[in-house]
Amino acid sequence: MKKIVIASDNLGKLTEIGAILAPLDIEIVAQSTLGVPAADEPHFTFIENALAKARHASRHTGLPALADDSGICVDALNGAPGVHSARFAGDPPAGAAGGRNNQDERNNRRLLELLANETNCKAHYYCVIVLTRHADDPQPMICEAEWHGEIVKTPRGSGGFGYDPLFLLPELRRTAAELTPEHKNRISHRGQALAALAARLRPAPPARPARR
Ligand code: IMP
Repeated sequence: MKKIVIASDNLGKLTEIGAILAPLDIEIVAQSTLGVPAADEPHFTFIENALAKARHASRHTGLPALADDSGICVDALNGAPGVHSARFAGDPPAGAAGGRNNQDERNNRRLLELLANETNCKAHYYCVIVLTRHADDPQPMICEAEWHGEIVKTPRGSGGFGYDPLFLLPELRRTAAELTPEHKNRISHRGQALAALAARLRPAPPARPARR
């Protein structure tokens, strides 16, 4: 595989995926640079949405496509925001400025409002990575991972994206937004899922001749 299209327009994800897959000798292109429109994500599970996004990008480009579907699942909210993480606070009012950062801030505010009277703040990020070799691939590669932590009531840190300023790693006593990008990529849900994918993409070492 020489070239893969990334089925995402989320700059935070694209940056992390690019950094984690950099050691592989594969050219990585964002779908927007190839004119691929955003895919619909109508499903109730991460895996179905990831498959839909990867197929959509492969169909438009004729290339292998990698999709990440991810989100944060909060125990006290029965797993919400889950697949609705990206637009948890709803779409911005028409014509509103601010783009992605503003959406992230509104999502974070909504989450804190819902948890205002909660004492159980356990949560985890989930990520599923799907790689389709072509649009009708009957055997896409699928790798998934979880990253467990807690929601803090006051945002901390300026790294990462999305819910990272609220996502505390108790054993590190830092939020995901307080980690360096390298540290986050080593231990995050996306980092772990992509590491598993990278291991499957790496050519196997030549077999040793059998000893007599
Ligand atoms: P998707 O693009 O439909 O998969 O939505 C992913 C959403 O989940 C993002 O827009 C974020 O709100 C949230 N999310 C997923 N991974 C992360 C992460 O690593 N940090 C912070 N938020 C994340």
